[in-house]
Formats: sequence, structure tokens, C-alpha cells
Amino acid sequence: MTRITAEQLVEILRTVARRIDEAREHLADLDGAIGDADHGRTMSEGFAAVVRDAQDAAHAGAGAADLLPIAARSFLDAVGATAGPLYASGFQEAGRRLAGRAELSDGDLLTLVAGLGDGIARRGKAVPGDKTMMDAFGPALRAIAAAEASDADVGAALGLAARAAAEGRDATRTMVASKGRAARLGTRSLGHVDPGAASAAIVIDALREAFEAIRAARGGRG
Ligand SMILES: [Mg+2]
Repeated sequence: MTRITAEQLVEILRTVARRIDEAREHLADLDGAIGDADHGRTMSEGFAAVVRDAQDAAHAGAGAADLLPIAARSFLDAVGATAGPLYASGFQEAGRRLAGRAELSDGDLLTLVAGLGDGIARRGKAVPGDKTMMDAFGPALRAIAAAEASDADVGAALGLAARAAAEGRDATRTMVASKGRAARLGTRSLGHVDPGAASAAIVIDALREAFEAIRAARGGRG
């Protein structure tokens, strides 16, 4: 069975970091409408730190799952804003679920996404409808659970998760924020997409993109 090595997980994280960095201005604009406009910069810095430290650890011989608690600490250290402890908790939970795996199976990537979302949910105590990143992660995790229940392959599951996350992100436009800084705006948050949901949808779609690249590089095997 083909496995995902620590070096390949670094490449996956690098794809996430690139996609987030490409959206930096867009995320800043979204956050500027209902928050303090720092979301693009903080997310970009957070994932850049994750890639740097994960790469160093992989070069030093760390196993794939070992990179996840390292990512948690890197993200927390790099991001003082709300998203810092949230994604750190997500990486911690993903790391806990995959602990000990020197290499990951394709299906472990779904566990990684689920751990990320569940860790964020537990830490932030937000539920879908609160106009937060959980409005992207919640639908994505439900899509993954449904895909796993119907034995869909990993690429299909990630595709469904990415689509569900994007739909969840778009739905935040019609929500009133009840968590985080935007909650102070009350109904004035209506009409704006939540920046945390927007970045979460990018993270999930980037994971899909990165897995597709790995699959293509295998030359159609698996
Ligand atoms: Mg902000």
C-alpha cells in the first residue's frame, strides 16, 4: 500500500500555506469588514511557521504524525490572534489520533481533517451557525463521515469535504455572528462572509489539492 511520508506531509502543509498566502489580501478584506483585518496576515504567518518547523523536523527524521504536534506549537507561537489556539488545538487532536504513524495512509488524511475540525470545535466551543470557521469545518466533517460510511475513496471524500466547506463558508454571509470579535457587531455582521470560515474552506480545499497532486505523482496507482 502506498503511504504518505513525513516529507510528503510537509509538501501537503506547504500547499496549504501557499493557498492561504495567495488569499492573504482577500482574507484581510473579509476580516476588515467585520473585525480587525489581521486574519490574512496571521493565517499566512501561522502556516509559514508550520511548514518551516515541520520541514526541519522531517529532515531530522521525524515521522509523519510527529509533525502534527510540532505544527500545533508552531502555529500557536506564530499566531497571537484568535485563530492561534484554535488551529493549535486542531493540530494537537489530529496528532493524537494519528500518534505513532511514521507514514500515513491515504485514509489517515481524512482522520487528519476530522481531528483538525474536532480539535477546533472543542477549543472554540462554536457550533455551525455561529458564523465562525466551524461553519466550514462542520459541514466538511459531516461530508467526510458520510463519504467514509459509503466507502467513497479518499480523493472523492476530500472533494466532497471541500465543496461542503465552501458552501458552509458562503452560508455565513446570511448569519449573525455570535462568537468572536464580530459578535460585537450584532446584525451588522449580516451580509459579510466570515473570514475564519473562508480560511478554513481554503485549508480544506488545499488538502484536497495536495492529495490530488500526490495521487497524480503516483501515476494513477491508487
Ligand atoms: Mg482578526
